[in-house]
Amino acid sequence: MNAYRRAVRDITDMRRAELDAGLELWRNALAGNAALRDAFAEYQAQAVKKAKGENNALDAARSKLKAEFERAGLKREQIEPPPRCKLCGDTGVVDGKYCACAVRRAINSDRENLTLPLVDFDDAQKTAPKGMPAVYKAAREYIRSYPNGKPFFIIAGSSGTGKTMLAAAIACAFLKNGRSAVTVSAFEFVRRAKDYHTQFAIDDYRDLFSPMLEADILCIDDLGTETMLKNVTLEYLYTVVNERWLRKKHTVVTTNLSPDALIRRYGEAIFSRLCDKSIANSYMITASNKRI
Ligand SMILES: [Zn+2]
Repeated sequence: MNAYRRAVRDITDMRRAELDAGLELWRNALAGNAALRDAFAEYQAQAVKKAKGENNALDAARSKLKAEFERAGLKREQIEPPPRCKLCGDTGVVDGKYCACAVRRAINSDRENLTLPLVDFDDAQKTAPKGMPAVYKAAREYIRSYPNGKPFFIIAGSSGTGKTMLAAAIACAFLKNGRSAVTVSAFEFVRRAKDYHTQFAIDDYRDLFSPMLEADILCIDDLGTETMLKNVTLEYLYTVVNERWLRKKHTVVTTNLSPDALIRRYGEAIFSRLCDKSIANSYMITASNKRI
């Protein structure tokens, strides 16, 4: 079963368990409380009368039941717990599509989607190398203003400047805020793209590729170090970057390449998406970091 269907199953299972618990509570309350039992029986009898179009005292019976209900210290939301997700009513599906809650659960339940070691944002900031504080400050604002603000966050700089740790810390902060996150190295990205490119079982499409399109935050680490596979690397990188660019989805990219090298390696189309000033915050980390 793929992660998306499993997420829907978990959501509906959880919902059923909550409703069952509510029903159990109600049954126990009735069993131990004669006044409540009588008021409920009367309410049901009056409701039947009303349904048959006969004279009835349903309103009075409802008031009586409500009074007994409150006297017993019961709360409606305990007996009939509201669904956690207002969009789908905890069915996991809206208009025949996976609900955002199911997508989030599916993405975050698959450990394969978090290939960078997770690190707490505050901890990462404390140990960040010299030259990073300004970028951390910007990253904190990037996290805080979600889903507003410029959605792309590009961190360029040579290795050893703590780019990966910052990317992981951003993802971790999103998870902490109840969002879905995918972190991949560029190397892992290409591996997935290749697997997807050569597979025939379309049923697994969602497991392999759509988390990278749908996650609230996607971090691609160390762009420029991956294998350049003909018909795969550029095509899939463009697909993911462009889709996220179009949907204004939050995306972090770290790279050790200079802007010139990025254009040479990936071409104008990908570069212009990544470094589109209107949607991207770009940072070059050097000893004395400056904005590019
Ligand atoms: Zn939902």
